[in-house]
Amino acid sequence: MNISAKIKKALYIDGTWKEASVYTALTSPFSGEAIAQIPSANDKEVDEAIEAATRARKVMAKMPAHKRAAILERLAHLLEQRMEEAANIIALEAAKPITTALDEVNRTIQTYKFAAEEAKRILGETLPLDAAPGGENRVAYTVREPIGVIGAITPFNFPMNLVAHKVGPAIASGNTIVLKPASQTPLSSYFLAELLQEAGLPAGALNVITGSGRVVGDKLVKDERVAAITFTGSPAVGIGIRNRAGLKRVTLELGSNAALIIDKDIELNKIIDRCVKGAFAFQGQVCISLQRIYIHESLYESFVQQFVEATRNIQVGDPLDSKTDVSALISNEDVQRTLHWIQEAKQHGAEVAIGGTAEGNILMPTVLLNAESSLKVSCQEVFAPIVVINKVQSVEEAIEEVNDSKFGLQAGIYTNNVHTALDAAEKLHVGGVMINDIPSFRVDNMPYGGVKESGVGREGIKFAVEEMTELKLVVFNRN
Ligand code: NAP
Repeated sequence: MNISAKIKKALYIDGTWKEASVYTALTSPFSGEAIAQIPSANDKEVDEAIEAATRARKVMAKMPAHKRAAILERLAHLLEQRMEEAANIIALEAAKPITTALDEVNRTIQTYKFAAEEAKRILGETLPLDAAPGGENRVAYTVREPIGVIGAITPFNFPMNLVAHKVGPAIASGNTIVLKPASQTPLSSYFLAELLQEAGLPAGALNVITGSGRVVGDKLVKDERVAAITFTGSPAVGIGIRNRAGLKRVTLELGSNAALIIDKDIELNKIIDRCVKGAFAFQGQVCISLQRIYIHESLYESFVQQFVEATRNIQVGDPLDSKTDVSALISNEDVQRTLHWIQEAKQHGAEVAIGGTAEGNILMPTVLLNAESSLKVSCQEVFAPIVVINKVQSVEEAIEEVNDSKFGLQAGIYTNNVHTALDAAEKLHVGGVMINDIPSFRVDNMPYGGVKESGVGREGIKFAVEEMTELKLVVFNRN
């Protein structure tokens, strides 16, 4: 697929494509070349999108589950037919290496299939009200109703699958959506709108509005017609949204500095490649990217040596080249920021075992040793191909280090001891504990979300459906 700067996108409002009054050039993070002209919506255009979503509420709320499921099934099928094209869009706008982009498209198909299935099992329960004196002779049951208009605000790093984690459950549960994708990755969302139009989604049920987070995002967050905000992105923006959202339902999927513990007696050759992948896939721009490793002192030297060796084999380059493992960071500011953080670490005695430099917008995969836990590379979210390896004397010490973080999304532990594994599962203060795997493991039906500054609420279709529906109680008095 050849997207050129001549391509001028339009806003997707009420089932039609509308030219905007203002346009911004979208450029490739890898080459800096212009890719397309993207609409920057103003207040009035966002208003039209919210109005269209508000009007479409009745149609979506009345649509039977089998029809909502069928639309999502058709969407998954269309995406399967246009996989290569979809992966190219992601590679181009996000500089995601093409093989990783294809993985994302495959996962997106899974996510929409899960959503199609979930549409058919949105359940309520019956309640024994006679458990309380005075409650006799009543039939009580709950139903889950669509919440209404959902404002979805998404990040650049999984422009198809993280959008799917919002659009999929929203359609599955009979809601309407105004989607505001990240300014760097609008093409994936416009592509989705095309496919959903073809899949037969009613006009107004999905609206795609691009433009600055401050203008478009802020209007969505404050507008009274929007019932819920589902946001994935950085903690700073997420916390700001929560503070402005008033009584709206708010789901926040935020960042982390995910950690892995490696106990003694682990066969390192079995885990090295997986750890390297967890640290450097998509340039470390993954919310559960492996950023901190705490390894038992008996294995430290050998692990560092093997990890560095494997890092040396990573291919850096053009995201559209199928041999590329690591490409450009999303912006030059991120390259400068991370070089600065590495510099700070070096000044405080950390050793750069490999990497630490940049070529254009590519930050070379970087391994840091002896980095204090108070350094930015350790305690902030690096969101870059940087990993810090630390030596510990025990799993207990490692658990304390992992928990000594303002984030808590997922953590991993490799251990051969079942007692140690269960102990870690209990003590790690995170949204998900991966035993005998890296913290970066995710498939799309598992509950996913964090504690502390990593967020509020859960995604993973079934769990997102709960966030996107209102529980209603019905009591039938038979007395
Ligand atoms: P970001 O800068 O926070 O942007 C996320 C979205 O918020 C974008 O669409 C952005 O629009 C919008 N936005 C910016 N300012 C806003 C405002 N004032 N009001 C409303 N919306 C606003 O995040 P990012 O750099 O795209 O993504 C990286 C972050 O996402 C990392 O922290 C990562 O950990 C996190 N993340 C978390 C998960 C998870 O599931 N927990 C998954 C993936 C990523 P513009 O692009 O126009 O600024």
